[in-house]
Amino acid sequence: MQIETDTHTHTISSGHAYSSLAENVTAAKAAGLKLMAMTDHAPSMPGAPHIWHFGNLKVVPRIIDGVGVLRGVEANICNLNGEIDVPDKFVEQLDLVIGSLHEPIFAPSDEKTNTQALINAIKGGQVDVIGHPGNPNYPIDIDAVVKAATKHHVLIELNNSSFLGSRRGSHKNCLAIAEAARDYDTWITLGSDSHIAYTVGKFAECTDVIEQVKFPLERLVSTHAGKLLDFLAERGKTSMGEYYKLR
Ligand SMILES: [Zn+2]
Ligand SMILES: [Zn+2]
Repeated sequence: MQIETDTHTHTISSGHAYSSLAENVTAAKAAGLKLMAMTDHAPSMPGAPHIWHFGNLKVVPRIIDGVGVLRGVEANICNLNGEIDVPDKFVEQLDLVIGSLHEPIFAPSDEKTNTQALINAIKGGQVDVIGHPGNPNYPIDIDAVVKAATKHHVLIELNNSSFLGSRRGSHKNCLAIAEAARDYDTWITLGSDSHIAYTVGKFAECTDVIEQVKFPLERLVSTHAGKLLDFLAERGKTSMGEYYKLR
């Protein structure tokens, strides 16, 4: 399966990741990617950069060595209202915002609470992608989350590192999420969640799931850079034009 995008990568700025942006771009190119989102952890995560990291992303070239670099963040969903730890004036400058539940910020709760937080984040409008929703530490009502994502045109992430030990026990949940997304017209994106360059653009476990559930490839944005750009443009992102020449 051809994959052209990776919507979830960390650099050394995240504090517990080990590669530079330049190293990630080199790896992305080697993996055949056309687009890679740089999504370091937002400020409330221990070790994460100051908010100025995100305000200064304008210095990063849009295209480096033939690879489009989307300016992104992995924001923390902080509470039941689905609020994130990135102020709107920064969100407006970013190309891609992942919203994720992380243990140090949002204590794992019951299914009803976790589901409500995710649905409110989806409704809130700032978040373009729900990150690693298969985390077994956060049981969710999968159908409800996936349906909300469809309604509000938000991407659901299949996170390759979840299958490789980051979040043990994710596999069963990710299969169920992919099946629900298949059945409820939801769009999916693949994220490597790389914390080191060697895993950028590597999606063997994700593509196994996509094939296993026969997910319709037309709703997998990752197969063509243009699909991801179109999706983000439909969500109101205004800087996509600079990347279209990659198609
Ligand atoms: Zn991380
Ligand atoms: Zn995460």
